[in-house]
Amino acid sequence: MKIAIASGKGGTGKTTVAVNLALSIPNSQLVDCDVEEPNCNLFLNKELEPIASSKITVPNIDEELCTYCGKCSQMCRFNAIATLPEKVIIFPTLCHSCGGCILDCPEHAISGREKCTGIISRSADMEDHPRLYEGVLNIGESMASPVIKELKRWIEPDAVTIIDSPPGTGCPVMTTLEDTDHCILVTEPTPFGLHDLRLAVEMVKIMNIPVGVIINRSEEGNLIIEEYCDKENIDVLMRIPLNKRIAELYSQGIPFVEEMPEWKERFSDLFEKIVNEKVLA
Ligand code: SF4
Ligand code: SF4
Repeated sequence: MKIAIASGKGGTGKTTVAVNLALSIPNSQLVDCDVEEPNCNLFLNKELEPIASSKITVPNIDEELCTYCGKCSQMCRFNAIATLPEKVIIFPTLCHSCGGCILDCPEHAISGREKCTGIISRSADMEDHPRLYEGVLNIGESMASPVIKELKRWIEPDAVTIIDSPPGTGCPVMTTLEDTDHCILVTEPTPFGLHDLRLAVEMVKIMNIPVGVIINRSEEGNLIIEEYCDKENIDVLMRIPLNKRIAELYSQGIPFVEEMPEWKERFSDLFEKIVNEKVLA
C-alpha cells in the first residue's frame, strides 16, 4: 500500500502529515520524495547512509567527427546545446537526457556520458520505525524526476509506504504519484490554499488516483475547503486545528503524535479508512 502526501503549494503541512502518519502505522516506511528540500528527517533525526546515486546520460561531442552543422542544437527543445562556427557547447544542467541529439547527429559525433544528479540514502538502522528513505538533488541540478525515480526503486514492496511528495503539480509530483494507491492532499482554509488545492485535485483525477483531503490549521466556522470538497465529492479525512501545542511541538521539530497520543489514534484510524476503501473498491 503506497499513500502519497501531496499539496498544491508549499508550506501547507504536508511533511508534518507524512511524518505523523508514518509514525502511527506499525512497520511502515517513509519515503521523502521532496528531493529539492527533503526535511522529513528534521523531525526524525535518523542516521542516514547513502545507498545509491541517480544518474542521467548527457551528450559528449567528438570534435574530430563534428562538422558544426548545428542539427543537434536545432533539434534540442531544451536549449541544452549551442553550435558555434567551430565549437559545440553542451549545457548539462539543461539536458533532459532524451537522447535525441545522439540519434540525430549525421556524423555520429555524439555519444552519451553518465552524470550523477542526486544521492539516495536510507536510515542506517533496519529496525528503526519508520524506516526513512530520502533522495537529495545535487546543488545546481534542475531535474528532480530522475532522483525520485531512483529513490522509488528502493521502496520495499511489501511494507506500507508513506511518500512525502514535492509541492505543486509539476513533473516531479507526477513522478512521485505514479503507481500510488491513494493521495492525501494537505491544504489550509484560505483562498490561496483552495486555489492550489483545485489544481492538485485536477492533477490527481487525471492520474486516476483516489484522493482525500486533510485541512491543516483548520478554524471553526471557516468552511471554504469543506464546501469545495462537498461539490467535488472528495472526503475530508482529517482537520488539524490551529493549536498552540501542535505549533510548539512543530517549532521544536517534534512530531505531535509522540506527545499527543490521541492524534496517533486518529492517524491510525485514517489509515484504516483508506485501507478499507481500497479493499471495497
Ligand atoms: S549534429 Fe553532430 S555534426 Fe552536427 S553540430 Fe551536432 S555534433 Fe556536430
Ligand atoms: S539528450 Fe536531449 S535534452 Fe539532452 S542535449 Fe541531447 S537533445 Fe537536448
